[in-house]
Amino acid sequence: MKRVGVFVCECGTNIGSVVDAPKVAETALNMPGVAFATSYKYMCSDPGQDLIIKAAEDHNLEQVVVASCSPRMHENTFRKAMSAAGLNPYQFEMVNIREHVSWVHSDKDEATQKAIDLVRMAVAKVVRNKPLQVSYIPVTKKALVIGGGIAGMQAALDIAETGHQVILVEREPTIGGKMAQLDKTFPTMDCSA
Ligand code: SF4
Repeated sequence: MKRVGVFVCECGTNIGSVVDAPKVAETALNMPGVAFATSYKYMCSDPGQDLIIKAAEDHNLEQVVVASCSPRMHENTFRKAMSAAGLNPYQFEMVNIREHVSWVHSDKDEATQKAIDLVRMAVAKVVRNKPLQVSYIPVTKKALVIGGGIAGMQAALDIAETGHQVILVEREPTIGGKMAQLDKTFPTMDCSA
């Protein structure tokens, strides 16, 4: 069985005034695979991250779920904490109980139950996660633009202006696409070619 740690953030009163964070953590302890669960006032703070790192060592955690705010805000913060704890940063799931729960609900019991359900789903997912590895692939800084109409020509020029070599491919004998077939264009009546 996997060993999951669950960390429930109160975000001060942002989450804590609507969601009973200690209750969410206590309930999470009974979810399959969960070896450790706790709540804390500010999970993204240095002491909050240290809590994850220490618990990972003390409880031999393999995966971590943090129930807090949007992943847009702190997914990277917690992935770094995972790495600092010697864990694969992709063995981590974040549950948004702030924007998706405390900010949109007022009934504390129902909000707490929803937070519990979201944590349960994240725990079920994280135990099925496969560890990913970051890989680096060399990139040739050259561009191929297919189609020599106006859009392709402009794209080729824009890339060339950034200092990169561009190869523009056109199946017809001339470039310019439909534009080159027009005589004059509104409103300046310039010769389109
Ligand atoms: S992790 Fe997110 S929800 Fe928790 S204290 Fe930081 S900003 Fe607030």
